[in-house]
Amino acid sequence: MKTIEVSVVTPNGPVYESDVEMVITKAQSGELGILPGHIPMVAPLAIGVVRMKKNGKEQDLIAVSGGFLEVRPDKVTILAQAAEKAEDIDVERALRAKERAEQRMRDQKVEDIDFRRAELALQRAINRLTVTGKQ
Ligand code: ATP
Repeated sequence: MKTIEVSVVTPNGPVYESDVEMVITKAQSGELGILPGHIPMVAPLAIGVVRMKKNGKEQDLIAVSGGFLEVRPDKVTILAQAAEKAEDIDVERALRAKERAEQRMRDQKVEDIDFRRAELALQRAINRLTVTGKQ
């Protein structure tokens, strides 16, 4: 089975590196599955889950809070402001962030910039909970 090298990098350093059969990401334009030999491209990522296909199974879920995807035929690089493997996610913290964001959204008007900020914080929290299977 052909593989492609993948690395997920944040300003705090590398989060994940492996050789995988497919990388499934959430680009802003929709879900993208990248196989070895993919044409080179760059795409902005949405807040979402990155999944790796290894040994025919989807595994190694990573919560990514936006960023960029760079694809070369033999390598995928995900450059993210924040990214966490499932085992590194603090569930209590994500639950608190979710509650805080929901409260802020109740307190703000939909058109306010703080509402949008709270909405993004809520998406990040829900994404982290999804990766841990708690949502
Ligand atoms: P919080 O309000 O809890 O800080 P946030 O969504 O605002 O959440 P970010 O700004 O996305 O947090 O991330 C700041 C740093 O904290 C990053 O390094 C990120 O990986 C880490 N981080 C945020 N939430 C969690 C979590 N629930 N578990 C583990 N690491 C987290």
